[in-house]
Amino acid sequence: MKLQTSHVNQSNWKEIVVSSHLPDRLIKLKELAHNLWWVWNPEAFELFTDIDPKLWEATKGNPIVMREHLSYEKFEELEADQAFLQRLDKVYNDFQTYVNTPVDRTKPSIAYFSMEYGLCNILKIYSGGLGMLAGDYLKEASDCNVDMTAVGFLYRFGYFTQSLSMEGQQLALYEPQNFGNLPLEQVKDEHGNQLQIEVPYPNRIIYANVWKVAVGRVSLYLLDTDNDKNSEFDRPITHQLYGGDWENRLKQEIMLGIGGMLTLKKLGITKQVYHINEGHAALINLQRLVDLISEQGLTFNQAMEVVRSSALYTVHTPVPAGHDSFDEGLFGKYMGSYPAKLGISWDEFMDLGRENLGDHNEKFSMSNFACRMCQEVNGVSWLHGKVSQEMFQNLWKGYLPEELHVSYVTNGVHLSTWTASEWQRLYDKTFSSDFRKNQSNLKIWEGIYSVSDEEIWKTRTTLKNKLISYIKSQINETWLKNQGDPGMIVAMLEKINPNALMIGFGRRFATYKRAHLLFTDLDRLSKIVNNPLYPVQFIYTGKAHPADLAGQDLIRKIIQISRMPEFQGKIIFLENYDMQVAKRLISGVDIWLNTPTRPLEASGTSGQKAEMNGVLNFSVLDGWWLEGYIQGAGWALTEKQTYNNEAYQDQLDAATIYSLLENEIIPLYFAKNSKGYSPEWIEYIKNSIAKIAPRFTTKRMLDDYLDRFYFKLSTRHERMIADNFKKAKELVAWKEKMAASWDNIELRELNIPESLYTDSTVNSKHLINTVLDVKTADCKNIGIELVVTYHDDQKNEDHILDTAEFDLVKVDGTQLTFQLEYRLTKAGAFRYGFRMFPKNEELPHRQDFNFVRWL
Ligand SMILES: *Cc1c(COP(=O)(O)O)cnc(C)c1O
Repeated sequence: MKLQTSHVNQSNWKEIVVSSHLPDRLIKLKELAHNLWWVWNPEAFELFTDIDPKLWEATKGNPIVMREHLSYEKFEELEADQAFLQRLDKVYNDFQTYVNTPVDRTKPSIAYFSMEYGLCNILKIYSGGLGMLAGDYLKEASDCNVDMTAVGFLYRFGYFTQSLSMEGQQLALYEPQNFGNLPLEQVKDEHGNQLQIEVPYPNRIIYANVWKVAVGRVSLYLLDTDNDKNSEFDRPITHQLYGGDWENRLKQEIMLGIGGMLTLKKLGITKQVYHINEGHAALINLQRLVDLISEQGLTFNQAMEVVRSSALYTVHTPVPAGHDSFDEGLFGKYMGSYPAKLGISWDEFMDLGRENLGDHNEKFSMSNFACRMCQEVNGVSWLHGKVSQEMFQNLWKGYLPEELHVSYVTNGVHLSTWTASEWQRLYDKTFSSDFRKNQSNLKIWEGIYSVSDEEIWKTRTTLKNKLISYIKSQINETWLKNQGDPGMIVAMLEKINPNALMIGFGRRFATYKRAHLLFTDLDRLSKIVNNPLYPVQFIYTGKAHPADLAGQDLIRKIIQISRMPEFQGKIIFLENYDMQVAKRLISGVDIWLNTPTRPLEASGTSGQKAEMNGVLNFSVLDGWWLEGYIQGAGWALTEKQTYNNEAYQDQLDAATIYSLLENEIIPLYFAKNSKGYSPEWIEYIKNSIAKIAPRFTTKRMLDDYLDRFYFKLSTRHERMIADNFKKAKELVAWKEKMAASWDNIELRELNIPESLYTDSTVNSKHLINTVLDVKTADCKNIGIELVVTYHDDQKNEDHILDTAEFDLVKVDGTQLTFQLEYRLTKAGAFRYGFRMFPKNEELPHRQDFNFVRWL
């Protein structure tokens, strides 16, 4: 045998976490660290930071890692520090009172599924707005005692950390997370062994570990496939958020949907309402169908009725291209076994995700599937609700977009998370300390008008100075890391001026967000920032997806501009936009700028965070700002789309931004009095806190979800499943009969009176009647309605002017006679038609059983 010079297999590291010994008197710290409640409770948060502020910074705000690094001497010192112990006891008691409050059983119970959650900086399981919203929502559900359980992923690498070269090239770093250092616990089975979920994939089982994050009173279960029972091909399923190819994405969505439901099942958790946050989790519905069919003996149609009655789908993406869809080959590879479990054909299964049934060129779209499987669908702002109705209109042909059940709940932000503690204390003092419970009450917020201008300005200045020192330290750090010219950095830091009007822009660098807009006319911009009397500074930050080269180009361009002599220290780009940077920036600047292409910003939430902190918004009237904007409390770029040519529209919008800055915003800011502030500016701040902030909290958002969907769904669902699914079965039997007879129904007569043409003046009345032969005796639940539309010439769209339902006036065997006396109410040119539809008071809305025939 010839000797090999080296023969080593791959290393096989295992993890062990050795924890430091915590003295008994301080054991409460450990408990506090393991529930994220500290994240949004300033006293708890400050308890941790005050132990060792430097170490806290160094651990990026991780109480678990910090504890591991504290010396024995430090513990002894804390043990002897009576003031500290008193604070600890107070915080701990508050915490105990909080977590031990039982859930509110008068509200529906909710299972919530999302691909990402932005809860705190150290849990890297979020990338941007979608995750931030989900994280804020869990915190609010906890605060409001809602019985909610959430499911997501524990990513090994999460989303990337951004680093920027001197030239502005974005480098994406994927740092592995050490789960032992995170505020999580591993879920164990009844024998105390690590719980594993077995999720069926083609020809194999994939095993997922389950972790639990305590978000106050809400449990968030996170799945993780990075364990040695899985093959090298499957372990990375939960490695990256929005990384990998389409195949990995499908594997993720199977894990989130199927695996997520199997997890709840294994833990014995059932809820009344299943809420899908974006289409990624749509497959939960599939597992629910399979379970109802195999365990409850329901047919496919019955199972679908039951699943639909308890399911809500929230869509976040306003363009169809942004929705996940899988081509038939790939989808078949993974989902091939499901039609048999459902008792349907492969084509019928594919059709659940197609817009046009039977169209083999169409992919399986998760959002189409979600729309079919969920009784209720909503967008995330009023405008986005409208956009979603249009986007999904082909799923429910027969109705105009505005008639669809697709509705909206405008996003909000979690007040205690995003409001700087300086403001929280001011609010507590001014509004009363329990105002959080009543935070949607606008009356309370009017208390801000009683606060002196000086105090508002002082609070703003404190936070601005905090931001400036953060910016300086970050610039120092990046500059050193990149070996930048030390002379330049000194010059740059000197130019950062706390008296300048500071404008912030932070978001994903997706092209529709138009971060380039401000840089359309550099001469004009230079004049604005270099005015010695009225200086202005811009702070930019944001990540571009590693595959989005255009977004990365934009970052590079802005960084290069910021290096030009006339913009040095005037335009600053901060690295690695994450929750921590966001919190500092959003509370520290004077204005928050947002310039998306309308209507592509479904909601946006960063501007709402700014509102809580007395920071004024200057934004395109898109997403939430269309609802939020009030004159005298911020600025709006009008929604007028003047040019079809994108570049022209950009130029126009840029010119509007410059001129608003030059003529309104800058003069207002610098109309300073002898005390160093502009009273008019403070008035704007007070208006925006009083009139805008309270309307965009997650409290209001959660209440909207309860009022518009959760109560409705849970009540109907309970009715459908009572008595062994009695109502669901009845309703399905009725639908099946109706479906079978529908095409046989015959229109015998439709009598449109001559008078409609000869005497069509406003207020004239006309008698219309129609006769149908339904052929089958038990298909008499039919409605007929007149639909009148008008044409919007500007948008070239038809809209509903009026609908009027006919009365059933005679039943003669299978012949039904309907009649309508209709009064013309409006002058103009209209179109009209007659629509036949099935009627049943158990239907939640027309599109639930979308049979329509135009007569
Ligand atoms: C709030 C937030 C977002 C979402 O903000 P948009 O207004 O939707 O751009 C994204 N990233 C971070 C880090 C945030 O804090």
